[in-house]
Parts: sequence; structure tokens; C-alpha cells
Amino acid sequence: MPRRILRRVSWAATALPLVLASAPVSAQTSAPASLPGPSLTRAEGPLSSPAAFLGLNAWVGAVSAATRAQRRGAPLLRAALTGAAAGVVTAAGQRLIGVGPAGMRFAGLQMVALGANVARNAGDGVPALSDLILPLYPLYVRVQPGTARPVRVRVSAMAVRGLVVAATQRQNRLRLDVGESLRSGAPVFRSPLPALAVGSDGPGDCVERRCVVGLHLTGTFIYAGGRDPAFARLRQETLRHEAGHLAQFARDGVLFAVPASDRLLGAGGRAGRWMQGWLVADVALPLLGADLLSDAASSDPDVHSLYEREVRAMMR
Ligand SMILES: [Zn+2]
Repeated sequence: MPRRILRRVSWAATALPLVLASAPVSAQTSAPASLPGPSLTRAEGPLSSPAAFLGLNAWVGAVSAATRAQRRGAPLLRAALTGAAAGVVTAAGQRLIGVGPAGMRFAGLQMVALGANVARNAGDGVPALSDLILPLYPLYVRVQPGTARPVRVRVSAMAVRGLVVAATQRQNRLRLDVGESLRSGAPVFRSPLPALAVGSDGPGDCVERRCVVGLHLTGTFIYAGGRDPAFARLRQETLRHEAGHLAQFARDGVLFAVPASDRLLGAGGRAGRWMQGWLVADVALPLLGADLLSDAASSDPDVHSLYEREVRAMMR
């Protein structure tokens, strides 16, 4: 019975992002309405340091690898230890995005993905680098050296969803920022406005002197560019912050959503296998589900969700 309940909980967690997929905002950066510089380091408490999230990433790597190993009846300990080490690599990638130079943001994203790949491969009992899923949003590039098709490029359904949401935000007058897109490994759009409008309340939504200046939209992000040079530092922090959310999305995708998509489409007959050749239905995102649950459980705007805490901790 416990296993059946666990399976149901797991499906509930993975289905939650689907239910909430129509929401335009998956993560945001807030900044005081009239002051330069955001309050990005406000999260405090036990889950607010880089070390805490290094531990959490090691735990996620260990548990996910052990679970996969258990499913195929393999010994758990070795998979768990490799998964934990891989989680440390993932955390190091997030730290690189959080505090490293802007030019290393793409490397940080791929390091996050590398850790998730190694953890998944450890669970599957295959060599650490034999199956690599690399995010290049809106695409996933899968590299499997030595196989009949060593490189496969497929479209991420959730990243396309992010692009559609960005394209419908006409009020923000978004333009593709090519430089930031190349630096980030995903389409990045810049608004000329000093604050983003995410509702229908006008040119910029500011609540209690806080404005939305950046949004991650599953595989793409948008930011308020403004024109005031005094806000240059804020813009850089916003880009760094949203790149952190992008890396969280990639971790969830590489570790859980891409293999789940392969299982789902692989069981869908000829049509499913045809779709599997070019599409990743990356909707099973249990870590995003946990983030949304943590957000829903808190009524205090200063007690941030799991993802917010992680990004802010990695920027400390
Ligand atoms: Zn955020």
C-alpha cells in the first residue's frame, strides 16, 4: 500500500505544473518601486545559505538515482553516492550562475545539466557520460556517443509554452535580446519599460513599493530593461536571478521530465514514437511542483518559495 500511495503522491506532484501551466508567471524578481537595487538577499532562516542548497542538491541527486536503481533492482548505495556527488556538481553550476561572471552563465547552465545527467545515468546503471541531455532552449540536445544516432535535437514543449506566453505579453513591448540569449542558453526578451506589467493594471505592476522586473517563463525569461543607467546593477542582478530559475527548470527537465516524456511517448504506439523523435513533452516537473506547493503553503510574502530561496542563496 505505501508504494501505491507514494506513486499517487508522485503523480500529483508531477501533474501540478500541468494544472498551473496556464499561469503566466512561474517566477519573478521584485524590486523596490523607487529605489535602485532589488532586495534579492532577504530570504533568511535555515534554508538560505549556499551550503544548505548544496546539501539539498546532493540529496535530490542521491534520492533520484537510488529510486531509479531500485526500479531496476540494482544496488542502491553506489547509485545514491554517485547521485549525491552529481548533485554537488549541479549546485556548483548554480553557484557559478549566481556569483560568477556573466560570461560564464551558459557554462553554469550546462554544469547544472551535467550534474543532473550523471545522477540520472547513475540510477540507470550506465556510464556517467554515456547519455547527456543538454539544454539549449527551446531545444534539448541529447548526446549518446557510440550509438546509431549519437546526437538528437528535440523541441521542449514547456519551452515553447514559455515562448508563447512571452509572445502574448504585448503590454511589455518585448524584443529578443540576442546577447543575453547567447549568454543564458535560452531566449531572453527585454522590455524598454522600467517595470514589467504582468496583469492588466497598467504599464508596470507595483505592489507595496515592489515592482516585477524579471520573469522566468519555463525555458525563456523576460526582464525590464528600462533606460535609467542608475538601474544597471539591478538589471544585471535580475538577469542573474532569472538565469538561476532557468537552471532550476533545466535540472528538473534533465533529471525527471525528459525521461518521463520518453516513457510516456514510447508507450503511445507509432504516433507516440514519431513524436518522441522531435518532441520532449517535459511536463513532469516534480521539483517545480514542490516549489509551487511551498509557495502555496506560505502566506508571508517575505517567506519565499523553495526556488526563490535557492536562487537567492546561490547569489549570496
Ligand atoms: Zn525569482
